[in-house]
Parts: sequence; C-alpha cells; structure tokens
Amino acid sequence: MQKHTDFAGFTEITPSAEIAADRHGGRAKCLQRLIRLDLPMPRTVALSFDAVHLIASGQLPDTEAMLAGFGPGPLVSVRPSSADPDWGGPGAILNIGMNDARHAELSESHGRRAANALYLRFIRAYAIHVARLDPEMFEGDESSDAVLAATLAAYVDETDSPFPQDPARQLTEVLRSMARAWEGTTARLLRQARGAPADAGLGLVVQEMALGLGPEESGSGVIQFVSGTTGQRQITGRYLSQSQGRAALAGAEGALYLTRDQRGESLEERCPDIFKSLKRYGETCRLNLREEMQIEFTIAGNRLHILDAVRVARSARAAVRIAVTLADEGIIARSEALQRIEPRALSELLHSQVDPEGPRDTFASGIAASPGAATGRIVFGSAAAQASAARGEPCILVRRETTPEDIRGMHAASGVLTERGGMTSHAAVIARGLGLPCVVGVSDMRIKPRDGVVIAADGRKLHEGDIITLDGTGGEALLGEVTMLEPALDDAFHALMNWAEDACDIGVRANADTPADAQTARLFGAEGIGLCRTEHMFFEHDRLTVMREMIFADTPEDRASVLERLLPMQRDDFTRLFEIMQGLPVCIRLFDPPLHEFLPHSREGVREIAEALDLPLSDVSRRVQALSEFNPMLGMRGVRLGITVPEIYDMQARAIFEATIDASHNSAPVVPEIMIPLVSAMREVELVKTRIDALAAAVRTERGVDFDYRLGVMVETPRAALRAYDIAQHAAFLSFGTNDLTQMTYGLSRDDAGRFMGSYVKQAVFPEDPFHTLDIEGVGELLSIGAERGRRARPDVVLSLCGEHGGNAESIEFCRRAGFDYVSCSPFRVPVARLAAARLAQ
Ligand code: PEP
Ligand code: MG
Repeated sequence: MQKHTDFAGFTEITPSAEIAADRHGGRAKCLQRLIRLDLPMPRTVALSFDAVHLIASGQLPDTEAMLAGFGPGPLVSVRPSSADPDWGGPGAILNIGMNDARHAELSESHGRRAANALYLRFIRAYAIHVARLDPEMFEGDESSDAVLAATLAAYVDETDSPFPQDPARQLTEVLRSMARAWEGTTARLLRQARGAPADAGLGLVVQEMALGLGPEESGSGVIQFVSGTTGQRQITGRYLSQSQGRAALAGAEGALYLTRDQRGESLEERCPDIFKSLKRYGETCRLNLREEMQIEFTIAGNRLHILDAVRVARSARAAVRIAVTLADEGIIARSEALQRIEPRALSELLHSQVDPEGPRDTFASGIAASPGAATGRIVFGSAAAQASAARGEPCILVRRETTPEDIRGMHAASGVLTERGGMTSHAAVIARGLGLPCVVGVSDMRIKPRDGVVIAADGRKLHEGDIITLDGTGGEALLGEVTMLEPALDDAFHALMNWAEDACDIGVRANADTPADAQTARLFGAEGIGLCRTEHMFFEHDRLTVMREMIFADTPEDRASVLERLLPMQRDDFTRLFEIMQGLPVCIRLFDPPLHEFLPHSREGVREIAEALDLPLSDVSRRVQALSEFNPMLGMRGVRLGITVPEIYDMQARAIFEATIDASHNSAPVVPEIMIPLVSAMREVELVKTRIDALAAAVRTERGVDFDYRLGVMVETPRAALRAYDIAQHAAFLSFGTNDLTQMTYGLSRDDAGRFMGSYVKQAVFPEDPFHTLDIEGVGELLSIGAERGRRARPDVVLSLCGEHGGNAESIEFCRRAGFDYVSCSPFRVPVARLAAARLAQ
C-alpha cells in the first residue's frame, strides 16, 4: 500500500467548485460547464497546473484520499487538460484500479470477456506509458484468458516485479508519468510550435469510469451535430457496443451509424430513447457553451453517461459556417463570430486546396509564395504555356525565375514554380495578383529547360509534359494528380465579409493591374484600387513590340509617334478600370521598371526584335547592351526614367485624363489618383507635377470638360521617408511601398533573398522573412517618421501602405495605430485583410 503523501492537490468538479481554465485547463472547465448543465456525468476531480507540476518534480499526491471519494473499488480514467486543447498532451489512460481482485469481481458481474478486456487495456497502457516497456510487446486487442495471463507474465518478465495491485499506487504512477511526459523536451517543442508559451501548464482530470463493457446494452461512442468539413448541420459519429474510449471511431467492425442509414443498423434504431437524449444534450451544449461540440458518451447497462465534450474539429470553411450560423441564430454576437475566424484561414476558402487527408508524393519544397493548388503538365516557357492553354490543357510553368517577359506564360498557366526568388520576387507578386498558386525559392531542385527536365532533390527526373500538382499554400510540388478541396465563396463567407466591413476602421483597397484583377477586387469588396502597376499593361499581347519600338526610337519625333500608338491602348485600359470600379478611387502608378526589362535576354530574342523592327542585328545588340545596368533596381527606373524620358509619363497622364472624361460619361465621376514611383527628392515631384498639371490643363481645354485629379508619391526609398515633410508639400497622398522600402532599408535584394532567407530565419538572424512580415523595428520606424513628417507638412495628406505586407494582420495593426487611411494588397488578400482589420477594431 502507498503510504507517504505530500499534498492533496485536487478539487472535485461540482457546479460551485473553483475551477478555472487558466489554472485547471480547458477540459476541466468544460467538464464543469457540462455538470452545471445537469448532464449525466460521472464523478470527476481536477488537478491544477501547480499540482501537476509538483507531481512532475517528484512530490506525491494523496491518491488514496482522491480514490476514497469515488466509493468502494472504483475504476477511473485520467485525461489531460491544458489551457488550449490544440497544445496536445499525453493520451488518456482508462481503467486505473483494475487488479486481480477487481478482475474476479467483474468476471462475476460483467462476464469474463468484459473483465479480461478491462484489465488488459489497463495493463497495456500502464506497461507502455508508465513502465515505458516496448509497445510492440503489449499491443493487440484480443482479450482471452490466455492473452491476459501472457500479458501479465510479459510485464513481470520485463520489470522483474508483479503488476501493481494497489489502485492508489497505480493512480500515482499514472499521474506522475503524464506530468513528466508534459515536461519532456519533445512535448514542449511540439506545443510551442502550436503557439503554447514556454511555461504552459498541464492540468489532469480523474473521472470515474462508466463501463462500456458488460451486461445489457453497453458501449461507447462519439456524436457531433455539424460536419467538420462543411459546417452544415449533420449528425455524425459512431457507436460501438462493448467498447471503451474512442474505439468506435477507429474503424472497428460492428460500429453503428448514429442515425438511420441504409448501410446498417443505427444507434437511433437500437436505442431510440438514448439517441433522443443525446440530441437533447447536444442542443443544450450548443446553446449554453455557444459552440458546436463533439460529445463522448458511454452506455453502461442501458444508462447513458456523458464523459466529455470538445470543440468539433473543423476546416476553415466549416469554421466560417459554424460561426455565421451561431451568430445568425443569436447564440453569439457578430463581433464574436469575427473573432472566431483566424484571418489567415480564409485563404483556404478562396482557393482550391490539396486535400490534407489525401496521399502526397512531394518532390520539391520551397517558399509558399501564393496560396491555392493546381494540377497540370510541366512547361518550361511562356510559348509552351500558351500552347497548352490553347489546347485546353492546364499547365504549371516551371522556371529558374520569372521576368516580365513571362507574364503571358503566367496568365496561361495554372501555377508557377521557380527555383529562385522570395516572397516579393516577380513570380510571387504576379502570381498573388492573379490568384495562381506559386512556390518559389526551391533551391534543392534543379531546372534544365534546355534538356526539358527538372531534377528533384532526391535525384528523380521529371520531364516536360509530366503531370504535377503545385501546393502554393504548403510550399510544395507534388508528383501527379491529387485530391483537391474546391473554394467555398458561399453565403456564409459573404455574410462574414459584410460584418467585417461594418466593423473595419481602416480602408482596404486592392493592388490591381488589369480589368480581371479589378473585377476580383470588387468581388472581394475592395474599397478601391490602391496600386495599379501600369507597366504590367505593356506586356500584354502585341504591346511588347510597340514598347520595344518606343525604346529603339532614334529621334524624339519617332518616339512621339510610337507613344501616339500606345496612348489609345492605355486610355482603354484606364477607362475599363474606372468603369469596373464605378467611382471608387483608383490609384495609378506611373511607369516604374527599368526599360531593359522589356528587352530580350537571349541571342534568339535579339534576332526576333531585329526582324520585327527591321533593324540590323548589331544595332539591336548595341542598344540592348547600352541599356543594361549593374544594379537595375537602383538604376534608371521609376521617376528617374520619368524625368529623363518625360514623354512616357506625358503619354500616361494624357491617357489617364482622357479615360477620366470617357468613364465619367457612363458612370460616377472619376477622380483619378496618379502616383510617382521611386521618389527620393522633392525636386523630382516638382518636375513631374509641373508637366502633369500642364497636361491636365491641355486636356481640359481640348475636350472642354473639367475634372479633378490627385497627385501623390510612392514612399519606397529611405530618403523619401526621411524627407516626407518636403515631399508632402506637393503630394496629396503618400503611399508606402514596403517591398522596395524593405529592400533598400536592409540593402537586401528582394529577388535574391530567397537563397538564404530560410537559413537566416532558422538561425534567428531575422525573426521572419521581412518581405513577408513587416519589420516593425526598422522599416516600421521609417514608416512612422514618414507619416509624421508628411502629416506635419500637410495635415490632410492621405497615408497608405501598398507593399505586399498590406494584407498581413501585423502590418494592418501597425498602420491602424499610425493612423493610416488604408492598406492595399493583392485582390485575393482583401478578405483576409478585411477580417484582420475588423478584429483589430473591436
Ligand atoms: C513596393 O515597392 O512596395 C511596391 C508596391 O511596388 P513594386 O512591388 O511594384 O516595386
Ligand atoms: Mg516598388
């Protein structure tokens, strides 16, 4: 018999007991709620985090006193109760108290088979989890006399001592092993990965067993009232006669469905009264716990016992439907429904997903640059992608990296996989805009486009035309076709979005370059376009050739005549955008990239241009050479190009103004916003503003129509942030481009960072990829300085953030606090940003 004890340390869970989730864990608190609801629960006691910690450090709880409360010869179970069920914990151990004497008694009252099964289950669990013996020796589910005898003998053999017979000692050892398992390094790392703090505590609950084995109808089961996949109302679960724990769910033969089912007998038919009670208890839980619960129950000799209830495990889609339904029925407030959905989880609803439960054969992994999933044949270039799309065959564009020349291929492809790059490299930004799944920075994969092969890290070779699946959410490329979950933009999603809009106190716009993007932006409820990157319009169809003609023009007159041909194309682009946005603000950024991005990189490409423009090959090569720069991202791009070759901005400004007049005929009056990129000095703004004002005046006179427009500056160089006071003198708005600002603040190329970012984050040099999560300490300080100085110069200056960070909850929180007017992000991030903003506003 166990004698010495150090402390009592347990509390019986009664309606009035002092049980708190932050001291006893979520399960203990939930069990108390069920007891308060008068559900038929067996007696249960709770051990606090402190008590369990003392047990782990070697002190002995008074298990004799604990067991005495359960009456004579009880059998009990122990389950973990951490503050958050997602943090896991040791598995439950059942039938503590089984020994030779109880086995003999139960053989009489419940039958020999049942007694054997109860005893065996406990011996096995004790041997594996407490005595830490080899699980292989103790696994199995047979329960004959012979197996029982052999199992007891194996225990003696392995431990050199008989199986413990004293229930108090059994319970002490079980509690100690569970307490120590929680404090082990592996368990600690696992739960920290799930968001648990380093000092997360474990509570334990000890509950009297209701025996699902024995005479009359006895068994155990699990029931829930909604589908964990869709969130729709639907009774699911299983019940297994003569079983304990969650055996019914383990695919055991003979398990019953719960409701009438043509596949076999149901619990509803076998025990209609018990089934009715279960339904009633389910509704009681739903109304009082304000949540969809999965209920674990046991039937012992025709009597129903409720053992436990946990939140129904759910997909993101089900989480949205459950929260919206509970709010619609007045069970929870709308504000709470918003709090219950993790914004990041929404992207699971907006795109197809690889079924997490299906099989997957991963051949490459990298940075998850754009969420969603797609299956298609491997193609290595834009021409092949377009040909594949023309045949109606989905394809995945596989490249070392993408350049603006690949835009057409990306439009045609169903997904993009690149060897190089990071969160803000070309492929990543464009794919997010298009809503295409994209994985970049797959440095353990080698692409040999010339040979038409991809070589995976494990040496497997894939060829052009092979079918692969891209998982842009998980950052993996998989072999072949896999099962997918389709997007779910259903009524529940739209309801949640409307509630989020009502709650938001910061604007959310979309980065949209094309009419298709603008339409998506509207579908997701963007309040305008925060960034239209006009250069993307020049890569469409036959415009690239015209653009190249402009670059190769010999004289200002030649250039003017080519720009004349680009003008109507741009005017149409802007008219369409304005019409789709129906009076919502549209912020158009003037041309930004260096011109050489429009030129070919290969010999063949140079030959093609020479042919198309009817120029000597040597001429074309010389021009291409002359435009190449050592550091193009820091070279002649953005406003620097606008000032050096002002005709390009002139043409764009004219196109914007003419489109403003055209679109205002058919819809609400348009007040375009024109944004100057890569500014670093006030004089740059002055020069551009003078020309644009003159153009506006000219268009007003020519067309005899008045209109307004707003000119603003993109703050994406550190100097622009520091000199925001000067710059804001000439700018109605300042939009922080955190992609370039991050690149320039760190001196870190956004296109090359992917190569070492993984190792930098792993070694905690950076807490996270700063191109993905805004660096509040460094880049954030520049934003604060820029915002403060800009506002000092012009109190009504409109402030926004339009880098890729715009859709992240952390950046939105920062922008709200800094008093920004809006954030702008890819159309597919708009719902995520909206929900994140709404949650922060409450
Ligand atoms: C930025 O630099 O943050 C930005 C939005 O512009 P881009 O990504 O086109 O350089
Ligand atoms: Mg930029």
